[in-house]
Amino acid sequence: MKISFHGADRDVTGSCHLVEAAGKRILIDCGFFQGGRDLDDENAEPFGFDARSIDILLLTHAHLDHCGRVPLLYKRGFRGEIIATAATRELARLVMLDAAHLQEEDARQKMRRQARRDDPQNGQPLYATLDALNVCDCFGRVAGYGQPLALAPGIVATFLDAGHILGSASILLALEEGGKQRRVLFSGDLGNAGRSLLRPPADPPEVDVVVIETTYGDRLHKPLAPSIAELYQAISAAFQRGGNVVVPTFALERAQELLYALRQGRERNLLPPAMQVFLDSPMAISATEIFERHPEAYEPEVAELFRDGRDPFSLPGLHFARETTDSAAINRVTGGAVIMAGSGMCTGGRVRHHLRHNLWRAEAAVVFVGFAAVGTLARRIIDGAKQVEIFGEKIAVRAEIHTINGFSAHADQAELLAWRAQTHAARTILVHGEAETMRAFAAKLGDAKIEIPALGDTIEL
Ligand code: ZN
Repeated sequence: MKISFHGADRDVTGSCHLVEAAGKRILIDCGFFQGGRDLDDENAEPFGFDARSIDILLLTHAHLDHCGRVPLLYKRGFRGEIIATAATRELARLVMLDAAHLQEEDARQKMRRQARRDDPQNGQPLYATLDALNVCDCFGRVAGYGQPLALAPGIVATFLDAGHILGSASILLALEEGGKQRRVLFSGDLGNAGRSLLRPPADPPEVDVVVIETTYGDRLHKPLAPSIAELYQAISAAFQRGGNVVVPTFALERAQELLYALRQGRERNLLPPAMQVFLDSPMAISATEIFERHPEAYEPEVAELFRDGRDPFSLPGLHFARETTDSAAINRVTGGAVIMAGSGMCTGGRVRHHLRHNLWRAEAAVVFVGFAAVGTLARRIIDGAKQVEIFGEKIAVRAEIHTINGFSAHADQAELLAWRAQTHAARTILVHGEAETMRAFAAKLGDAKIEIPALGDTIEL
C-alpha cells in the first residue's frame, strides 16, 4: 500500500495523488498547474505514472486545479471509471469543456504567431474538446455524501461534504491488503464555516493517515458579514456618484455567492432598488444553472428558498449576458449597474472590456472579492497602479478600488487545525499549499508526525 504525489506538492495547483492498494491503482484528482510562467510545459509533462494503468479516478471537486488534466489523462490512454458526486460531475463537464476550448484557442493563436514569424508550426493543444467529451463517458457511479462505495475487494471509498464548492468532497479510503488495514483520508479543498450557500465541512472520521490541503494554513480569514456590508456600501457609494461597479469574479461558487448576497441586499433594502446586475460570463451562467439543479446541497435557509419555489440566485434587474453582443451592449451603461465578469484575476475574459470602459471613470468602482496572484492585472490594480495596459491601450485608474477579503471558499488555519485534530491521524501529509505556508502550518501541529512530499515522492502506508 502506498501513495505517490503528482501535483500540488509544496504548491497550490495541479492536485493529483495515486493510491496503490489491493492490486488497484486509484487516482485522486488530476488537476491543472496554474499561475506560474512555464505552466503550459508543466501541464504537458508526463504524469509520473502510466495513464492506461489507472483503474479508478476519484474527483474531490470541479475546480480546474483538481480536474483540469483529466481530459489529458484520457488522451494518454486512461479508460477507467470516474467517480464523483452528482454536482461535481456536472460542473467538471463544464469546466473541462471550457478548458479544452481554451487550449484549442491558445494553440490556434500560437500557430498564427509561428506562421507570421515563419517558424515551423507545432501548435498542438494540450488536449481537444473531443478528449473532454470522451472522458465524460468514463463517469460511472455517483457518490453520495456518507455512503460507502466498494471500489474493489479491499477498497471502500466514502465521500464526505467538504463545504468548499457545490459538490465538493473529502474522500475516505478504507484499504485492506495482506491482512493489513489502513484508513486514509484526503481532505480535498476544505470550505470555511459561516458561508452563505454551503454547509460547513462534515466532521471527519478517525483515520490512520490524513492528506490535508494547506492553502490558507498560515492565516485567519475575516468574517463574511462585514465583507457583505462593505460590498453593499461600495455599490451604494458608486451609484450615488453616478458610476458602475465592476466585480471581477470566478465563475464557480463566487459568482453564485455574490448573486445571493445581492439578492439579500435588495430584499432587505440595503441596495438601491434601481440597481441593474449583469452576469457577463457564459461559464458562470451555465454554472448557476447547475447550482439551481442541486437544492439538496445548500444551507437550510437557501434550501428553504428552493423548497418555496424561489430561486436564490435571481433578483430584480438581473441580466445574463451569454452572447458577446449582449456583453458589448453593457458598455453603453455608464451608471447604476453591477457588472460581474470573469476572469477573477483579470488575466483574460470579458472583465477586461468592462475595466477598459470603467476604470478611468472616477465615479465608478472596482471590487475585488478573490485571490489575485502576483503579476496579474487584478494584482496591479489592487497594488495601486495609476495606469494599466488593457488590450494594448493605456487606461488611467481613477475608479475607487475595493478589496474585500471575506468571501474565501477555503478553510483558514484555525479550521484546518480543528478538522485535522478530529481525524486523530498518526500521520499527517501536507499538500496543496505554498512551501512557506506548509512550514507555518506544520509548526502549529506540535509533535504530530508531519510529512511534506515533493513532486514524484512515494510514501508507504
Ligand atoms: Zn478548489
